[in-house]
Amino acid sequence: MTDRPVVTRFAPSPTGFLHIGSARTALFNWLFARHSGGKFLLRIEDTDRARSTPEATEAIFAGLKWLGLDWDGDAISQFDGAGRHAEVAHQMLENGKAFRCFSTQAEIESFRETARAEGKSTLYRSPWRDVPETDHPDAPFAIRVKAPREGKTVIQDHVQGDVTIRNDQLDDMIVLRSDGTPVYMLAVVVDDHDMGVTHIVRGDDHLNNAARQMLVYNAMGWDVPIWAHIPLIHGEDGKKLSKRHGSLGVEEWAAEGYPASGMRNYLARLGWGHGDDEFFTTEQAIDWFDLSGIKKSPARFDTKKLANLSGQHIACATDTEVLSGIQEYLTLSGQKSLTDSQVADMSRAMYCLKDRAKTYPELIEKAHFILTQRPLHRDEKTELLLDSVHIGMLRELTPQLQTGSWDRETLERNVQSLAEAHETKLGKLAGPIRAALAGRSVSPSIFDMMLVLGREETVQRLKDATA
Ligand code: GLU
Repeated sequence: MTDRPVVTRFAPSPTGFLHIGSARTALFNWLFARHSGGKFLLRIEDTDRARSTPEATEAIFAGLKWLGLDWDGDAISQFDGAGRHAEVAHQMLENGKAFRCFSTQAEIESFRETARAEGKSTLYRSPWRDVPETDHPDAPFAIRVKAPREGKTVIQDHVQGDVTIRNDQLDDMIVLRSDGTPVYMLAVVVDDHDMGVTHIVRGDDHLNNAARQMLVYNAMGWDVPIWAHIPLIHGEDGKKLSKRHGSLGVEEWAAEGYPASGMRNYLARLGWGHGDDEFFTTEQAIDWFDLSGIKKSPARFDTKKLANLSGQHIACATDTEVLSGIQEYLTLSGQKSLTDSQVADMSRAMYCLKDRAKTYPELIEKAHFILTQRPLHRDEKTELLLDSVHIGMLRELTPQLQTGSWDRETLERNVQSLAEAHETKLGKLAGPIRAALAGRSVSPSIFDMMLVLGREETVQRLKDATA
């Protein structure tokens, strides 16, 4: 199996959004496929017709696209394969690996009730397993796969190690219901086999399923893929990740303005590692990713770490990448896109906006000075900085800025000597100047703002503030 080219898959059931845990599963499969030069396939497990709306499926596509996880070929619908799944069930029947079970729902229920009352195992053993066909009634039947009665089934898992299940704990699982519909457990195996999947990375909530899926592989004589069941993500308190811990859907994080590159980096670190590396690019992750780097203990979702990595990714991205990330964020959060002239202004200022912004909204806040227009609206806190003493100082500064060269050194010297003349510190002057130039307390340095705004606009803003 291992010498075949790697084929991984992501097989989400549409739930209306792309859960952060599913996104990580998708990422691991994608990274492994890209690392190995193999394929990453997408299968929508849409057999639950009530939940599988086009919108719910679209939400998965959108989440994956935002994260930059491109899949090979077209997404496959599990529901569409129902005919093929039934065909395999009948094949098992022909090969003697499965049998027709004529037990009715009522019979099975009554068996279970009695078993429960007597404190016995509720595992149903169909009496039809060994009944010859000549004795079969002309009645509806389900197809059940014959599970081994003795011995053990060992699941060799890349993360969990060998997981052993006693065969006497496995029932003869129904693979095809009496109405002709395949069960989920059959569909998964047939699809994975037909798609040529070599490696399955998924949440360890599916580990129990693996034992039952093994029955189908064995009955069909198919190669069992390499399994890697990864521990589920926990919240900061160590409990299973839930709404209480923050946003669960990838699209919510996107709408909050986290860059996709930061999210990819963070999700990769959730349960996988390459030495002590925290910050890395997607190219590096592809280069390094291996199943042996997956951790056995559950990772904890830590919003601060995500924010921290996100900030580093914004700082390292090209200006074009940041701007397109911002436009995407604005769309996803239902805000107006930047106009061409705002994009041009932001591009000029980008060198002093990119660092120390953890999210796009933080960066936009920092860019307020360039996105806003005179006369500036100042928030209350900033207005207080413009007291009469400081207004006096700014009035002195304005004419000095009208002459002389417009470079950082000269600007710094001007403000520095003004501070000295008033026996104060440059830092004390920065607040009022920031109030005049940006109207709020978050902005790049006053000199960066002056340089980006240019002489005329700077002088006008100072005059407005001191009028
Ligand atoms: N459809 C399953 C889920 O969304 C995944 C099944 C699998 O990976 O085998 O949890």
